[in-house]
Amino acid sequence: MPEKLRELLLSHGVAIAVGCVTGLLLLTMNQIIPVVLPAIEKSVPKRALLTLLVLSVLVNVLLAIYIIYQSRKSTLTPRFGVYWDRNRNAFCPVCMSLMSSYGEYAAGTGFYCTKCEEIIELREVHGDPISRESAVERLSG
Ligand SMILES: [Zn+2]
Repeated sequence: MPEKLRELLLSHGVAIAVGCVTGLLLLTMNQIIPVVLPAIEKSVPKRALLTLLVLSVLVNVLLAIYIIYQSRKSTLTPRFGVYWDRNRNAFCPVCMSLMSSYGEYAAGTGFYCTKCEEIIELREVHGDPISRESAVERLSG
């Protein structure tokens, strides 16, 4: 699967799922309403039904907005001694600040956190150093 299509599906997966479920609900309601509606119309006033429909649509719209907002919230994943976002940006493991200055410093090779004023080296689980390129490559794999 092409990388761009994969990223598009992952980033909009929740919206696609909500759209599919909504479509299924509409199809199901289209089949059920003609059978059930006459019985409901006899026992419940139309004004109450309209109020319930408006409330239901409003709650569903709010729920969809909440789900989309939650899915777009950035989540950081710990790996190689730092935290990574979904765009493979590194964040300091101490203060969670974005670190963009990777390079070779007198104290070692790694990311420099400007808040902590520390060099954060990337390391494997067993402690061996790993380059930024290898780490980023393995993040995507
Ligand atoms: Zn820091």
